[in-house]
Amino acid sequence: MEISSALLAPRRPTRQISVGSVKVGGQAPVSVQSMTTTKTADVEGTLQQVYALAAAGADIVRCTCNDQAAAEGLALIVPRSPVPIVADIHFHVEMALAALEAGVHGLRLNPGNLRKPEEIRLVAREAKDRGVPIRIGVNAGSLHPDLYARFGGATPEALVESARQELAYFADVDFTDVKISVKASSVATMIAAYRLASETFDHPLHLGVTEAGPPPGGLIKGTVGIGTLLAEGIGDTIRYSLTADPVEEARAGRQLLEALGLRERRGLDLIACPSCGRAEIDVIGVARAAQEALEALDLPLQVAVMGCVVNGPGEARHADLGIAAGRHRGHLFIKGQIIRVVPEGDMVAALVEEAQRIADEGVEARLAARDTGAEAEAAADRAGLLEDRGLDVNRSGERIARIRQRSSKHPD
Ligand code: SF4
Repeated sequence: MEISSALLAPRRPTRQISVGSVKVGGQAPVSVQSMTTTKTADVEGTLQQVYALAAAGADIVRCTCNDQAAAEGLALIVPRSPVPIVADIHFHVEMALAALEAGVHGLRLNPGNLRKPEEIRLVAREAKDRGVPIRIGVNAGSLHPDLYARFGGATPEALVESARQELAYFADVDFTDVKISVKASSVATMIAAYRLASETFDHPLHLGVTEAGPPPGGLIKGTVGIGTLLAEGIGDTIRYSLTADPVEEARAGRQLLEALGLRERRGLDLIACPSCGRAEIDVIGVARAAQEALEALDLPLQVAVMGCVVNGPGEARHADLGIAAGRHRGHLFIKGQIIRVVPEGDMVAALVEEAQRIADEGVEARLAARDTGAEAEAAADRAGLLEDRGLDVNRSGERIARIRQRSSKHPD
């Protein structure tokens, strides 16, 4: 941790919740979030974006869950995502329940959109049973009309009251695994709303300026709003909302935290897949060994350790360098293209050697020097793995069947 964070206001104590493997609140580091822009039903496209976001600094990624196809997509995405996945629920309680069925690590509910108390309690009860946290995501643009009328607009007090009402519904079913956001597109309103929220609640706060627009204006709004609050010790997780490639959001979030000394600067950026049912190696062990060995080189590279060659190189195609396992061999890849196949025991050594060569010679030169037979070897290993294990190693089909069963009982 850089010394500058000691000069900021002390962080406001909050309860801690867990969004999958990421702790939010309490003494946990402030985390960065972003949101995919793909259709969630496009599983491969969404996963590629999730990996790109993770590589750019996102600790948690949100995906929209607006229809049945999206919920089914989540059942396939969650087990292969390198970071926890939160489902954004719009107007339909059924989508919240389907997302939980899909195995998401968190839900985001907008109190202005999902309004029936019995439905809110139903989702909270279901989330509680599954140990899944919910973000109460109040948004000035979609505030409940009653509150709008009562407070004379989307004032800071109205936004906080909306969160308080939603919390009360959750309390009815004894559900407290909650974080809160009170976003507005007006930076001044957003700052005042979060200050009030931090005095009112002890739940972790998710900071953001909503609909901030394209850079540079959107970046400035996000930085002023989020940065001001963080400097005051308010905020546990952040998201820039930019009209841009979401990778820019994740990068901006990470850079803001680094600038404030709230997160360490990154040289080496190692990402690893979560090691789903398709994994061919001990991903955590290899990732740890790779991290130790590569840190010694101190190179500003993104390096991916992936559990299988079936999906790994494609999912991590944004990484400078990576290795994926397959049939006792390591498939070394640069920008998603296989360059060499090595014995499994040499995976870490091969990564270290190639990282140094990329630093010395550049990516293009290393791609040009690739082993011409490597891609064909990888294709053969991929085909063999699919034949050995089948298509649905994560048993996502069972979750999808339950989602379909649920929707046939509750058609729209
Ligand atoms: S084992 Fe393969 S499919 Fe599973 S998460 Fe890792 S790279 Fe993706």
